[in-house]
Amino acid sequence: MSQRRHPEARQTKESALYIVATPIGNLGDISSRALAVLGSVDMIAAEDTRHSARLLQHYGISTPVTAYHDFSPEARESALLDRLARGETLALISDAGTPLISDPGYNLVVRVRAAGHKVIPVPGPSALVAALSSAGLPSDRFVFEGFLPARRAARVQHLQGLQNELRTLVCYESPHRIVATLEDMLDCFGPARQVVLCRELTKTFETIHGDSLSNLLPWIQADENRQRGEFVILIAGATVNPDQQEEDDEAHRILTLLLEELPVKQAAAMAARITGQRKNQLYRQALAMQTGPAETRKLPEP
Ligand code: SAM
Repeated sequence: MSQRRHPEARQTKESALYIVATPIGNLGDISSRALAVLGSVDMIAAEDTRHSARLLQHYGISTPVTAYHDFSPEARESALLDRLARGETLALISDAGTPLISDPGYNLVVRVRAAGHKVIPVPGPSALVAALSSAGLPSDRFVFEGFLPARRAARVQHLQGLQNELRTLVCYESPHRIVATLEDMLDCFGPARQVVLCRELTKTFETIHGDSLSNLLPWIQADENRQRGEFVILIAGATVNPDQQEEDDEAHRILTLLLEELPVKQAAAMAARITGQRKNQLYRQALAMQTGPAETRKLPEP
């Protein structure tokens, strides 16, 4: 594709660092402003130059590219600052999505702002926002945890600290740890807590699947294909009253057992008699346990 000219190109003449979001899978998800900025700055700083070469090539962008990541020597950062001091314009991109969101760039942005240069966001894709906007969990307030600790003991300790968080929790997870992390979440949050898995967003095998933790774990364990690719995990916030949470977990355990033997309607009626909870609510819960409540879209698996 040939390089596009855009009115934004004129604006990049003022010295500044542009923070440019790039697609998280579907190359079509890049804004015309992002293309104009990438095509007109003096230099692009990229997390991985080989990775970004594919995107830039696809859009016919021939701007010089230099590597910049969190482990870059300080001298690399200083060289970028020198360029800004000379009046040049720079763009920062990461491998996918929005830089600085679990991606490199924080130190650079701090130094560029401290030196008095402009930092200009060019917003676009981020797996965090894509997942939150389509999972069907409360999105008015949420907590983003980035990547959880890789080691199990540290991860469990971290999750225990989040047990009573009322807002929707969002975290990124790698395919190697997805099952272990869901096991830890089951231990820490209880079997009834609703979780939505967003896998391979914007890609061919995009899957958005929600269920209680006690159902989600066997679902993902049942098929290795469901464990492949990139994941965002969203966890419903805790119920306001911790005693209520215990009662909900107990009702969930009872419903799970009854559903093994009885049809949904009878299981809900029996669970209502045992727990004292409302029959209608337990009926809805039992239906969701059988069908998966928040499975908004599921494309064919590999
Ligand atoms: N800066 C990126 C952003 O704005 O989303 C995130 C970068 S972080 C290093 C990469 C993680 O984001 C992946 O391990 C995965 O958890 C999540 N992620 C990125 N792309 C995704 C996608 N297409 N579907 C689901 N999760 C994705």
